[in-house]
Amino acid sequence: MDFFSLTKQELEEYLLMRGLPKYRALQLLHWVYKKGITDTEEMTNLPKSMKGEALGLSILPLKEELIQRSVDGTEKALLQLEDGEYIETVYIPDGLRATVCFSTQVGCAMGCSFCATGKSGFSRNLSSGEIVGQLYYWKYVRKLPVTNAVAMGQGEPLANWENFKKAIAIINDPDAFSLGARMITVSTCGIAPRIRELGRLPWQINLSVSLHAPTDELRSQLMPINNKYPLKELIEAVKEYIEATNRRVTFEYTVVPGLNDGPENARLLVGLLRGLLCHVNVIPVNPLEGKGEDPSAAEEFVRLIKSQLNVTLRRSRGSDIDAACGQLKRKVFE
Ligand code: SAH
Ligand code: SF4
Repeated sequence: MDFFSLTKQELEEYLLMRGLPKYRALQLLHWVYKKGITDTEEMTNLPKSMKGEALGLSILPLKEELIQRSVDGTEKALLQLEDGEYIETVYIPDGLRATVCFSTQVGCAMGCSFCATGKSGFSRNLSSGEIVGQLYYWKYVRKLPVTNAVAMGQGEPLANWENFKKAIAIINDPDAFSLGARMITVSTCGIAPRIRELGRLPWQINLSVSLHAPTDELRSQLMPINNKYPLKELIEAVKEYIEATNRRVTFEYTVVPGLNDGPENARLLVGLLRGLLCHVNVIPVNPLEGKGEDPSAAEEFVRLIKSQLNVTLRRSRGSDIDAACGQLKRKVFE
């Protein structure tokens, strides 16, 4: 069984089943998550029955395949999973803040037209351990500080709901990875029922909604999920989330020049979001082919909406290493 997939309660139950007392779970968690030790032989206060094979748990960090470093300090790692699949995770240092951008699926089934992951199709969901493992990799294998985490890598987090929820519980648990809920952000293409559920969870992580268009016609063209959960339903779900949590929601708006920008789209966007407790992040699209992003259309779009909406233009991070991966190029800061 994979240790990183277990919540504290599940670990306690697992140990109890093997005739071990509950407090042993805390000891084990402490070694792994506080000291960064994964070899049970080095865990000096544990009995023989909890060492090596006898424990029956695999405590294996994810395998690093390749690292790319940007001149601005951003790093992207390609990690190999047990079944040979690969995922990407990005580390973004920014002053006192250091954010890990993690993946939640191998590929993605949502098929957004501007997204490199969407183009490659869906392979499988990540287990909760494979999600937690990405943060663990940066903090304990690479020995780098981690202050924030964003589910903005490959995959749609809310389409991997059960594993995602469990991973967040483990990441947030003070006895496990111990990252405050307010330091964690989930980005979704807009799975409305899950957004409602998110508002009812015991821990309140930040919500970021990939909007990208102010009308159903345009949004469905860019994001097929809009056919299933059109704007009216999406905005209703976001309102419900805000009512339940009283938290400000971020809308991501990736500007594809000539397609979703211009004064008319700006006016419609203002109409759609006016009065909502929200913030808009405008991001220049990272072209899947050809030259790098051009921020001028995004800058102009910001100018058009800034008197009416709370808006920021995202700075680009790691732009020299992200050529192969659409969405990881974007930045994750306000
Ligand atoms: N599936 C989730 C989270 C991963 S994608 C979602 O869609 O929200 C993270 C973000 O990158 C999303 O806002 C997505 O719309 C954006 N993105 C994808 N491809 C992009 C590209 N080529 N240029 C800029 N942003 C992109
Ligand atoms: Fe999937 Fe998000 Fe890419 Fe859309 S933008 S295809 S939901 S990863």
